[in-house]
Amino acid sequence: MSDPANAGAKALFLKAAGIAGDFRARLGEHLHKPSRDYAASLDAFSGELPDFGPPMDEVLEDLAKRAEPGLHLMAGPRFFGWVIGGSHPIGVAADILTSAWSQNAGNHIATPSASAAETIAAGWMLDLLGLPPECSVGFVTGATIANFTCLAAARGAVLREHGWDPDSRGLFGAPPINVLIGDDAHTTVFSALQFLGLGHDRVQRIATDDEGRILREAMQRALETADGPLIVILQAGQINTGACDDFSALVPLAKARGAWVHIDGAFGLWAQASSQRQALTAGVERADSWATDGHKWLQTPYDCGYAIVRDEVAHRRAMTIAASFLPVSEGERDPSHYVPELSRRARGFATWAILRHLGRKGVADLVNRACASAKHIAAIVSKEPGIAVMNEVVLNQVVLRFGADLTADEADALTDRTIAAVQSQGVIFAGGALWHGMRVMRISVTNYQTDADQAGIAGQEIIRAYRAARSSTTD
Ligand SMILES: *Cc1c(COP(=O)(O)O)cnc(C)c1O
Repeated sequence: MSDPANAGAKALFLKAAGIAGDFRARLGEHLHKPSRDYAASLDAFSGELPDFGPPMDEVLEDLAKRAEPGLHLMAGPRFFGWVIGGSHPIGVAADILTSAWSQNAGNHIATPSASAAETIAAGWMLDLLGLPPECSVGFVTGATIANFTCLAAARGAVLREHGWDPDSRGLFGAPPINVLIGDDAHTTVFSALQFLGLGHDRVQRIATDDEGRILREAMQRALETADGPLIVILQAGQINTGACDDFSALVPLAKARGAWVHIDGAFGLWAQASSQRQALTAGVERADSWATDGHKWLQTPYDCGYAIVRDEVAHRRAMTIAASFLPVSEGERDPSHYVPELSRRARGFATWAILRHLGRKGVADLVNRACASAKHIAAIVSKEPGIAVMNEVVLNQVVLRFGADLTADEADALTDRTIAAVQSQGVIFAGGALWHGMRVMRISVTNYQTDADQAGIAGQEIIRAYRAARSSTTD
């Protein structure tokens, strides 16, 4: 009864592992840019859908050949674009098994192992992040959906306190919710608010300082006039500067007004895992919910994020229907009760494997190494006249502006030319951003392989690109 497809599975998986291993072995040598753009990639993938296609091993080799030229080396040691984790090999290997095991990790009866791995990994994570052990954790696709999940719990809790259950009755006729959020919050938090019917524009944006941190007096004023259901959204790790809000001051202020306090800590919450960085996030554990990513600083493969909620019942009520939000059988976890999906990937295996491999000190080292590398890059480039480091490098993010001695328009243009020069060379990858009205280069050190040597190469490459852009006349 054995299917020929299954008979060939082992050889096929070994072939896939070989291709994957070869790709990873070349990470340090390859250019940090794709050699094929989108249009060329479309050409590479195009073709008629066949009635019956070639054998599996041919398709696999063909896929790799067509895909690899159009890949960015996001797992590479000198990829500094956006905030992108490197998919640690142990996580990838665990993820290969996860795919092969083919578990639909909706509930613990269907897949006891997947539920158990999540339970244990969740406990380890709360410990590492210094969050209350009673929190519930949903393993979601990323921080966007983690923010969504946490804010859904917040929405339900603050409205029920005012006699309205939005999870059963919806929002029409509900008392309006006041949402206070920092002016430099991540765009995906506004997306989450949009999905929740809270609107991305009806929130009250609170003024921030040069680093993107909420100004305490501005928050205090907003809190004084806010009445009714109230959600306050703070941030650990501003996307450009890496700065964290002053949780020790802001969380108690907001809680005193009865607010649900939510933290977007997509990458910055991991400062908690390092004794050298914890001061940045002091007081963060007093909030009500936290969103963070696995696929950024923790280096899990995509897609992986965590929705962490102090009040488990609020968390479950927001994500499940009927009476299933009531704690059922003590100690048995149904993963789907904490996330928007039913059928879902067993994300806990990769998280468990990474935490088990790195351990407490390994995660702290990962965080410290990235922060030290960011500081190293900033130190190298700041010696070059005309390059300005625009942020306090407190975490893993560096914001650079080129032509600090020129007019604002000239500096914008020179910054864009420097970014283009860096990208065309492909020794490193870094992208651009708009920061408080200025064009900047954003460096995010979020890869497990980036160390002092790689940071040194990056610093020199940025200077080289800047000099080339500065001496070129095309502006
Ligand atoms: C990346 C990021 C998000 C969104 O996370 P995804 O994993 O991309 O969904 C939210 N907030 C901050 C601060 C981020 O850096």
